[in-house]
Amino acid sequence: MINCMKIETIKLLFALFILLLGSISPATAQETKIRWFGHAAFSITTPSGKVLLIDPWLNNPSNPEAKDGKDPLSAIAKVDYILLTHGHRDHVGDAVAIARKTGAALICNPELAGNLVKLADFPAKQAETDAIMGIGGEIQLADGEVTVAMTQAVHSSSVFNPKATVNEPERAYGGNPAGFIVIIKNGPVIYHSGDTAYFKDMETIGENYSIDVALLNIGGHFGMEPRMAARAAQAVHARLAIPQHFGTFPGIARNAEGFAAELKRMKIDFYEMKPGETITYRGKQLIKGK
Ligand SMILES: [Zn+2]
Repeated sequence: MINCMKIETIKLLFALFILLLGSISPATAQETKIRWFGHAAFSITTPSGKVLLIDPWLNNPSNPEAKDGKDPLSAIAKVDYILLTHGHRDHVGDAVAIARKTGAALICNPELAGNLVKLADFPAKQAETDAIMGIGGEIQLADGEVTVAMTQAVHSSSVFNPKATVNEPERAYGGNPAGFIVIIKNGPVIYHSGDTAYFKDMETIGENYSIDVALLNIGGHFGMEPRMAARAAQAVHARLAIPQHFGTFPGIARNAEGFAAELKRMKIDFYEMKPGETITYRGKQLIKGK
C-alpha cells in the first residue's frame, strides 16, 4: 500500500516536473514579430532578436508614428538588415538615414546598391557586403537563423538621383525589381511581393517555399489589382494573406475590401494589419493579431 502511494507520488511529481519544463521552455524565445509601418514597409524581428526592415518608407502618410510632425526614425534603435525590393522612392524611403543611424547592412541587387551609394550617400561599407544578391539566389544571415531568397517581380526599378543636374536624368538605373522570401528558423516563412504584377511563375515560388504568410501589394495602378493579388496568394499557396501598398497615396486602392472578398471566395485566410500593428508568430503559429 505504502509502496503504491510512493509510486503515485513519484508519478505526480514527475508529471509536475514535465509541466514545469514546458512552461519554462524557450517558447518566448521562439517568437517572430512582424510589424507593418504602412505602405510596403515591414520589420521582422527574429527569435534571437535580429531586425530586418523591408522597404522602409517610414515617413509614409499612413504610419501613425509619422503623424503630427513626429519623426518615425526616433523609435528605430536597432536594425540589422535593410531589404529593398526595388529603387522607387516609396520603397527606398528612409533607408539611407536608417542605415546611418543603425549600421544595418543592405540587401538588394548590386545595381541598386551601387547607385544608392553613389547618388544617395548610402554608407558604402554597409552596401558592399556579401548580402548583395540577385533573383534566384539565397543568402544565410544571423548564423543561419534567417535565409533570404530574392524572387522575381514584374515591375520597374530606378533610383532617384537628388544630385541630378538639369541635363541629367532624375532616375538612374535600379537593377531588376524583386520580391523576397524570408525564412525564419523556428518561425514562419514570409513572402514580400514588392510591387509586382501577377505572373504565372508565382506558382514556382509556391512550389519552392512553404509560405506561411504572404505580404501582397494590392493597390493596383502600379502593380497587382486586388483580384490579381488574391490570385497571387493562391498561386504561392499562402496560408495567410496580408495586404500592403494601399491607402497611402491617390491612384492606388483605398482599402482592402476587394482583396478580402476575393480571398473569402477562394477560402484563403486573410488578415488586415493596421499601420503600426505588430503580429507575433510562435514557431509557425500566429498567436497575436488574429
Ligand atoms: Zn510602390
